[in-house]
Amino acid sequence: MRMQAWNLVYLVGLIIYIGIRGVFGGRTKRNEKVVSRVNAVDRALVALVFVGSIVLPVLYLSTPWLAFADYRLPVFIPWCGLAAMVIALGLFWRAHIDLGLNWSITLEMRKSHELIEHGVYRHIRHPMYAAIFLFALAQGFLLQNWLAGWVGLVTVALLYLVRTPREEKMMCEFFGESYRDYMGRTGRLFPRL
Ligand code: SAH
Repeated sequence: MRMQAWNLVYLVGLIIYIGIRGVFGGRTKRNEKVVSRVNAVDRALVALVFVGSIVLPVLYLSTPWLAFADYRLPVFIPWCGLAAMVIALGLFWRAHIDLGLNWSITLEMRKSHELIEHGVYRHIRHPMYAAIFLFALAQGFLLQNWLAGWVGLVTVALLYLVRTPREEKMMCEFFGESYRDYMGRTGRLFPRL
């Protein structure tokens, strides 16, 4: 096991990330789904993110198989990784609290689905995706290996690019003018100036 300090920071972050998903995912289970826009592409992209964010890092930490892609980063970069990880987990947790029972891992609407416009959703429409981007950035800054470090960010970017327009289309169909107004007031990942 390659358990240098920065690898350990990544692993602890990953466990907290999975813990947050587990706790909030469990709470939404009983909230019935009424619309699903899940398709094979979305499923494949979620699987790719799983490989990039969990399978490759775990292989890197537990076997020598990815050692050919090792490299060294300047000393200050992993500190930036630690900062990105702390912000990512804080935002991820906050967004789950704000979205509450309306959360789904994929494109689904729940019975009595509410449009959330408060908390972190007041300024940006996709705080969870912003948190996942930051987590993937932290991964790249903490794990000093081209594959285990950066494939996660590539897969997250792919999922985001394909999913976000479909998610916004679904939300417009479900909430109509209210969601269109909300889009006018907010940014996708960064607040509107
Ligand atoms: N894109 C959001 C949510 C990701 S979870 C984010 O990054 O924070 C995906 C599900 O959340 C979608 O299927 C949709 O049902 C729901 N959702 C997205 N934005 C929402 C909002 N503002 N209010 C209520 N539900 C929302």
